[in-house]
Amino acid sequence: MASVVYFSNMAYSAYESDQTLPRKFQRQLEKSGLGDKLKDKNVAIKIHVGSEIGYTTIPPVFMRVLAQFVKDHGGNCFFTDHYVASRHPEHRGYTQESLGAPVLDASGHLGKYLYTKDVNFKSFKHVDVAGLIHDADFLIDFSHVKGHGCCAYGGAVKNIAMGCVSDRTRREQHGLEGGLKWDKDKCTHCKACISACNHQANKFDDKDEYSVDFHNCTLCQHCLKVCPTGAITLTDSSYRDFQYGLALCTKTVLDCFQPGNVFFINLLINITAMCDCWGMTTPSLVPDIGLMSSWDLAAIESASLDEIKWERLNPEGVPTGITMGDKGHLFERLHGKDPYLQIKCLEELGMGRKEYQFEMVK
Ligand code: SF4
Ligand code: SF4
Repeated sequence: MASVVYFSNMAYSAYESDQTLPRKFQRQLEKSGLGDKLKDKNVAIKIHVGSEIGYTTIPPVFMRVLAQFVKDHGGNCFFTDHYVASRHPEHRGYTQESLGAPVLDASGHLGKYLYTKDVNFKSFKHVDVAGLIHDADFLIDFSHVKGHGCCAYGGAVKNIAMGCVSDRTRREQHGLEGGLKWDKDKCTHCKACISACNHQANKFDDKDEYSVDFHNCTLCQHCLKVCPTGAITLTDSSYRDFQYGLALCTKTVLDCFQPGNVFFINLLINITAMCDCWGMTTPSLVPDIGLMSSWDLAAIESASLDEIKWERLNPEGVPTGITMGDKGHLFERLHGKDPYLQIKCLEELGMGRKEYQFEMVK
């Protein structure tokens, strides 16, 4: 049986405020059954507060609708993320007055309120779960969908795996990135690999050691192909370990909640090439799609990716000078990594299934 994904698209048939996406969102929440689960619960709503001058994080009107819904159904809620105070959410309109609930630092003001869970995947050993999220009765994972340099796609999984944990856990997950290795003994320092990279992903440091920024690297292999001595080769893991690490971290956070006490909402508007943590806003890659929600993590991620179609690409959303790949999902063509791999990892770890059916909410 396919899992239900509630979906409100952008289409409208009359000039009425009732057809605006936040109103459809209200109706979607009513339909989802979420209201029956909230009475007397402390509800953590995980968002991304954004940073600097970026303006495409979740608009406050959607968050206000959600906070009101939780309160109307007998719950207490707060919005949360990491580094809240230093990223000034009030600059993007996120205040208690505008949202109807406070915006709190998930690991406390000093970032030290954490619960450590052990994991064992290569160099990834610790998931330090943010204290306020760990202590909540219920989690609503409210994500703005966009691209991501390290894993191609940033949605519900990324919102948890990178946002509900400590710096140490983020570092350990990033430590799984990879795909290329360099053999110092074979390198003649001709720098052909640097000229061949049109993603500014590789460099030689002060000590003439070669390094790759895997956030920017699309694994296009141009560097590898131009190298006259075979000094650059592919590793076995490629970027797959990072995708698995994200899924494993997500599972560890979600295991802190009773079954049925986590709900997922993906907002598919302003879908940009990079994550909101960059503090910048670029043109959308595709026209706005709408809003989805589900009780099934793999299903909502799969449905979100399927709706971001290559055929609808707005070329202005792609940085000037970047060469897109010629196969796979739009995000794979842009970032060189298969975004569906995240979903395979979710299924492997028992976090839902990719088969979904839409229940449309107008
Ligand atoms: S694989 Fe492509 S993007 Fe990555 S460092 Fe080499 S040339 Fe640059
Ligand atoms: S192309 Fe190969 S030999 Fe030349 S600098 Fe790069 S790694 Fe070294």
